[in-house]
Order: sequence, then structure tokens, then C-alpha cells
Amino acid sequence: MAKHRARKRFGQHFLNDPAIIDAIIRAIHPTGDDVIVEIGPGQGAITDALARLAGHLHAVELDRDLVARLRHKYGDHPNVTVHEADALQFDFASLGDRIRVVGNLPYNISTPLLFHLLKFRERILDMHFMLQKEVVDRMAAKPGSKAYGRLGIMLGCHLHIESLFDVPREAFDPPPRVTSAVVRLDPLSPGTFDIKDEAGLSTLVSTAFMQRRKTLRNSLKKSVEVTDFQAVDIDSGLRPEQVSIADYVRLSNHLWQKSR
Ligand code: SAH
Repeated sequence: MAKHRARKRFGQHFLNDPAIIDAIIRAIHPTGDDVIVEIGPGQGAITDALARLAGHLHAVELDRDLVARLRHKYGDHPNVTVHEADALQFDFASLGDRIRVVGNLPYNISTPLLFHLLKFRERILDMHFMLQKEVVDRMAAKPGSKAYGRLGIMLGCHLHIESLFDVPREAFDPPPRVTSAVVRLDPLSPGTFDIKDEAGLSTLVSTAFMQRRKTLRNSLKKSVEVTDFQAVDIDSGLRPEQVSIADYVRLSNHLWQKSR
């Protein structure tokens, strides 16, 4: 078959460093009991090992040409199913209630894809993704750090997030513009943060971080009163990055309770 030409609009950067591929497979550690879903398998850089080690592999790929190649390659593997689909629209619930999700994600859709996957978190055992390092740093950021903000909080209230290792641009063909990193996401047990109003929390956090240098009191003037801060014992003189996920959830739950 002719060589596939990487398509920019599908965010195609193919891994071609065996040591990195190996490190990813070791981090995932697939076993014969696993149902693994790979998003964006592309030309199959990590697909071969997954197909060999996992109980069942579902490969979800959007590019029709690559789907044809994958079907050709894995047609005689009874434990591999190739889905021609957009991962952003995909119903991951259709693949069972104990799935592991992996992928070297198309970076242009990584944030909406992570939020789409969150909807299925109760069926997901864990996730391993290659993403832009800058995004991984924001996802895994702790309070008090520069990278801490909306992304880390809205994912962190449902997932334990751990940055595993960085991956240089040269590991890909064609190389992306920025350094990448591999991240592991483990869903928290349901109810860990007991969020009453997900949309309200999201708005609260976005508003608080609109101006990072401002205090909560100033940024949230329109939606949160002094007595609200007092009710949940949060210092309104703090800047948004000094507030923990748990405190944002408590404040949001309090506002939700009050509005009922
Ligand atoms: N995993 C491969 C390819 C990574 S490139 C490797 O590491 O080499 C990203 C892959 O995601 C490409 O194959 C691209 O076609 C696919 N892709 C892009 N958008 C997608 C979408 N919305 N749904 C599913 N796959 C997508």
C-alpha cells in the first residue's frame, strides 16, 4: 500500500519512536481481561501491541483511508473491532461498562474530547493519553501553581490526574510544534466531591479565573456575596489559584442550595 500522507485537519502526527511506544505500552500495561478503546489509532503505532495484549481492542478512527488500512490489517484478529467514527460523538457506553481508554489524541480536539469522555466516567477504569505537554501541565496542576485553572479543576473534580513523562517532538512524523506528554487519568469514586450543580461550578470557576490577579471578592462580585464566602469559610481576599477544588465545590454547592 502507498504511504499514507498525514492530514493536518485530523491532527495527524504519527509516533515513530520504538522506545516511546514501548514506554506507553508499559504505562498502560494491557492484560487479557481488558477491554481497551484506542482513540485515533492512525497507522497503528501502539495498536499492534494493544491488539496482542488486550482481551479486546476497539479502535475508533475518523479518517476513512486509515480505517480501510486498519480493517485490512486487523481483519483476521477476532479481538479487534475497528469503528469508523468521530470520537467526539462516539457512544462509549456501547462498548461496555468496564473500559480502558487510550490514545495519542488529535491535539486540536483534546479538550472537548476529555469533556465528552467525562460523561462516561462511571464505565471507565482508567485513561492514558498523549497530549500537548502544556495541556497536561494544566490538567495536573496543583493549587498555587501558574498552570492551575479551569481545566485542572473541572477535570480534577472527577479524575485523579498524573503526568507520566514528556515526549519530544522528534518522536513523531511529522513532528508537532510543541513538546508532548503522557498523562494517566483515574476516575475518582463517584461522589468524592458531591457536586450539586456541574454547570454552576463551571461558570463559577471560569468567572473566578477571568482575571487571575484579582481576588475572589472582586471577580465574583456579581454572583457571590460576602455572607456566602463566610458561610463556607473561604477567605474572599484569596486569588483564584489559591483555592482548592474542594473549596470551589463547597462554594458552588452553597450557591446552588441558596438558589433553590
Ligand atoms: N495513534 C497514532 C495516530 C496519532 S495522530 C500514533 O500515535 O501514531 C491522531 C489520530 O487521530 C489520527 O489517526 C487521526 O486521523 C485521528 N483522529 C482525528 N480526529 C479524530 C476524531 N474526531 N475521532 C477519532 N479519531 C480522530
